Amino acid sequence: MSATLYVVGTPIGNLEDMSVRAVRTLQQVDFIAAEDTRVSLKLLNHFEIKKPMVSYHEHNAREVGPQIIRRLQNGESCAIVTDAGMPCISDPGEDLVRLCAENGIDTKVIPGPSAAVSALALSGLDTGKFVFEGFLQPQANTRRERLEELKLERRTIIFYEAPHKLCDTLNAMYQVLGERKITLARELTKVYEEVIRTTLSQAVELYTQREPRGEFVLVVQGAKEEQKLDFAQALALVQALVERGEPLSKAAKDVARQTGFKKGEIYRRLMERDVAIYGLSVVGTSLEQSFMELLYSMKRDFEQHGDASMIVTMFDNAYEQAVRLANNNSISVQRMATVE
Ligand code: SAM
Repeated sequence: MSATLYVVGTPIGNLEDMSVRAVRTLQQVDFIAAEDTRVSLKLLNHFEIKKPMVSYHEHNAREVGPQIIRRLQNGESCAIVTDAGMPCISDPGEDLVRLCAENGIDTKVIPGPSAAVSALALSGLDTGKFVFEGFLQPQANTRRERLEELKLERRTIIFYEAPHKLCDTLNAMYQVLGERKITLARELTKVYEEVIRTTLSQAVELYTQREPRGEFVLVVQGAKEEQKLDFAQALALVQALVERGEPLSKAAKDVARQTGFKKGEIYRRLMERDVAIYGLSVVGTSLEQSFMELLYSMKRDFEQHGDASMIVTMFDNAYEQAVRLANNNSISVQRMATVE
């Protein structure tokens, strides 16, 4: 084996999940960098692998990382493993891979199970788009701030959590994120594997009655799509209703009720927009010509849709002029009630 760092995934509970390639790699490398050599020794013993190990964890990574790099530069091969699952995922390894990249040392992955992806797969929640958050900070303030930042996150969110912090975390999640679905994936691949698909409020209640035990992944539903239409969408909706044959007045009233925007405001903006559009098509012509363009467009609208209320509202501030121009051109104009 040439100088390469192998990032080797190991089981998250069930030793049968160790891949054939992972076993072979551990047999063939010159040495293994292990998060906790006592934990990894059990794995090696199970597969009858005898290999020198160096301890590599977050507290000695700065010192041991460069030593591993020197050995790799001298032609040795190394496998990095952690206590469970994929190295580098809420586990040591990230820095070592970066050092290898910086020093032009080859890296290869021997993929294995990861609690995050395994829990997501069982969650029953949207798996199309997701984000991995790992562990939240234990301090209440920092944890809350992070949750606030995630409040509008639409994608499914995956968290790791230790059992003794579970209740506090669930409470904080419920307070900040509000009611939504959550799947608690516990002790995956182990004897007491359990998947609880519930809501945040129910999860809070459940774990006030039950002591959390074992390892947990929390898979939380993303924020629901905001149902409220913005103003542009409200205008588009009015227009769509009018095109489907609803009188403008009724369409504006209905949409105003639905969205909370003022009916008068919807009208005004629709008019302004139409004036702007029609105005644009007559750029370079006189004001009178612009008015004429508008009148003819309105006449066409009236003939097509049978609803001419737009005409009157548009010309609210220039009514006299519009009437004069219209009359000169045999177009009849009536003043209708002004929309409030
Ligand atoms: N690198 C690992 C991986 O790829 O999944 C994760 C290591 S992280 C230090 C440990 C956390 O992963 C645990 O606190 C728990 O949240 C989650 N975890 C690990 N094994 C698990 C299992 N069998 N069932 C549920 N969660 C697990």
